[in-house]
Amino acid sequence: MARILPIFVPHEGCPHDCVFCNQRRIAAPVSPEPEEIRERVCAAYRAGLATEVAFYGGSFTAIPVERQEAFLQAVYDTGVSIRLSTRPDCIDEYVIARLKRYHVETVELGAQSMDDEVLRRARRGHTADDVRRAARLLREAGFTLILQAMAGLPGDEGTWQYTAQELAALRPDGVRIYPVVVVRDTALYEMWQRGEYHALTVSEGADAAADMLEVFLAHGIPVIRIGLNPTEELTGGAAAAGAYHPALGEMTRSRLFFRNILRDLKETSLSGKRLIIRVPKGRVSQAAGVSKEMIHRLEAMGAAGVRILEDESLDGYAVRTLLE
Ligand code: SF4
Repeated sequence: MARILPIFVPHEGCPHDCVFCNQRRIAAPVSPEPEEIRERVCAAYRAGLATEVAFYGGSFTAIPVERQEAFLQAVYDTGVSIRLSTRPDCIDEYVIARLKRYHVETVELGAQSMDDEVLRRARRGHTADDVRRAARLLREAGFTLILQAMAGLPGDEGTWQYTAQELAALRPDGVRIYPVVVVRDTALYEMWQRGEYHALTVSEGADAAADMLEVFLAHGIPVIRIGLNPTEELTGGAAAAGAYHPALGEMTRSRLFFRNILRDLKETSLSGKRLIIRVPKGRVSQAAGVSKEMIHRLEAMGAAGVRILEDESLDGYAVRTLLE
């Protein structure tokens, strides 16, 4: 498994700030210089802590070419593989040729939404067609393609499932799902404070992420991350509202089990009955939910008791229920 060493280059290359984004709060205040990157990568590689370096937090392919190449060269010299994140409107044949020259293997595209109105209101500065075009170019060139998607941006009233369907059709190698977090010192924070933006709650964010996760799973597309990585800065107050929770991924995955439990029960009343749920090996605590949230929900629906057992014949999010 790749051990990724993230190198944050906050807002480098970004033509402007998207309404939800403040990488200096989310990731790191400043970029390291190329020489420092080279030293960090060598040290991490020697310690067995890095097989891949990831440039995150900016629009890498829009960084002025000389500086971009200095960053790439610093890692290329170490022999460690490279991944980077960028914007869909900053990919063309010249960019692809440069990335190939430095043996970049993986490109993460911030798609965020496939609804042009949502993209406009988020001040993304690109369209859904830019995402389609960039994804096609990157796939044709043989890069590993990861797409990043958000749920709950201004104007996104349930269009996240459409976004998931459209992104799945681009056949990425993986996706990241980010329900919106309102981060201080962003335009979205100002909008939220003025009452012009209704933030998702953590629970709504997990529900939205579960909607998207179901779409990606149905297409066999790995979901490699759900929710922002927890940091001291975010936990310490930079996340002012929205779907910020260190266990958002677990909350989302437990919702999938819960949905499948309800489907398996086919609206049978739970009232006064004991419910036995069989789930795949190693998934009992995920099915129970964070702080047993899903068990409490089933009890609130009338179940007199809930037992969750492992069943080696099941996989994924499959469940089998029995009422006693
Ligand atoms: S979301 Fe991406 S493109 Fe927008 S400001 Fe943040 S790093 Fe830059």
